[in-house]
Amino acid sequence: MRTSIYPGSFDPITNGHLDIITRAAKTFDEVIVLVLVNPDKKGMFSIEERVELIKRVVKGFKNVKVKSYSGLLVNFMKKENSQIIIKGLRAMSDFEYEFQMALMNNKLDPNVETFFMMTRAEYSYLSSSSVKQVAIFGGCIKGLVPEEIIKDIVKKSKTFK
Ligand code: ADP
Repeated sequence: MRTSIYPGSFDPITNGHLDIITRAAKTFDEVIVLVLVNPDKKGMFSIEERVELIKRVVKGFKNVKVKSYSGLLVNFMKKENSQIIIKGLRAMSDFEYEFQMALMNNKLDPNVETFFMMTRAEYSYLSSSSVKQVAIFGGCIKGLVPEEIIKDIVKKSKTFK
């Protein structure tokens, strides 16, 4: 069975992320959406909250699991017996960073392959940080994130200034 890992901050999950998950779920036997703890990023949602929001959004997928991990991605992958990392690519700015990460992960574990999926044009401008910014200033986030989590983001953004 081919298990792929889709890692990120998902603070919160957006329609851009969901599109990548949907396409990956069609391509691989199993997808694990992995919320990675990044000590450099102060989040809006706690790791547990992000996992809960993603679980709600992917409830309908039989082959998608959601987990979190604090540590090196390659160590999580060994634990799960997976060699496949999925990454979404938006613009050139993603490319440089992701290129470096892919080479580093391959250096740490030569069995690991990173698969890149192009964003769909309508999500190419979408990031968790832009969603947070819009929400904090009271803008409409409909169409940017899955319907079932809009209320949670609006509520959280009121206490996050
Ligand atoms: P963000 O940059 O939105 O904070 P993450 O750090 O959670 O997102 O990103 C996790 C993964 O999802 C990365 O591979 C990132 O390139 C990808 N990704 C994020 N937003 C999109 C999008 N709109 N379309 C395609 N891929 C995306």
